Amino acid sequence: MAHKNGRPAAQDTPRAKRDALLGARLVEALKARHFDAFYCATPDEARQRIFSLIPPADVVAWGGSMTMEELGVIDWVRQNRPVIDRDKAQSREEKLELMRRSLLCDTYLMGTNALTAQGELFNIDANGNRVAALTFGPKQVIVAVGMNKVMPTLEEAVSRARHTAATINAARFDGVRGCTKTGQCTDCKSPDSICCSLVCTRLCCVPGRIKVVLVGGDWGY
Ligand code: SF4
Repeated sequence: MAHKNGRPAAQDTPRAKRDALLGARLVEALKARHFDAFYCATPDEARQRIFSLIPPADVVAWGGSMTMEELGVIDWVRQNRPVIDRDKAQSREEKLELMRRSLLCDTYLMGTNALTAQGELFNIDANGNRVAALTFGPKQVIVAVGMNKVMPTLEEAVSRARHTAATINAARFDGVRGCTKTGQCTDCKSPDSICCSLVCTRLCCVPGRIKVVLVGGDWGY
């Protein structure tokens, strides 16, 4: 279907068609690994899906996620759910304490650095709070994933996480690292490295605890 100005409707673009086909296959691949999974063609659909997955009384926390920020989910939960908001911390100590408390929240929100076409999540973390929550603690974890994060193999997912997501993410923070000097991952061992834990989530141990919401288009990095 085309818009009246002659441009194709968003759902008719080649990219949208590819994302919808790949998204449907990913949903099946993720469900075979005991994740709950949804494909949402538009950001509005993704927002409504995520909101519907968070019960009103749930205490919500999150790990750093550009995708959740870009979708407006973090702003929404701040206004509509009880939250543990580490960004309101007044000191490093208070922030760490809120990160610890977040591990026992009801709903944890995050993105992922990469997702394989076979349905495996791959993430890199500095403090480890995000991958810890993904692995155990919160009653449920909702992962928002732009289709730009999908890689054909685990090897390519690791490469994406290390050479694209981590190097861009590192540039957000103060500190001295190989990539902030060269723009490339040098496999640094700097005390400021953001690459301390590299975690592949192969299966969802408690069926349905991790809910993956795939979003058409490019989200996060
Ligand atoms: S250079 Fe260091 S901080 Fe940067 S992406 Fe590589 S391991 Fe991570």
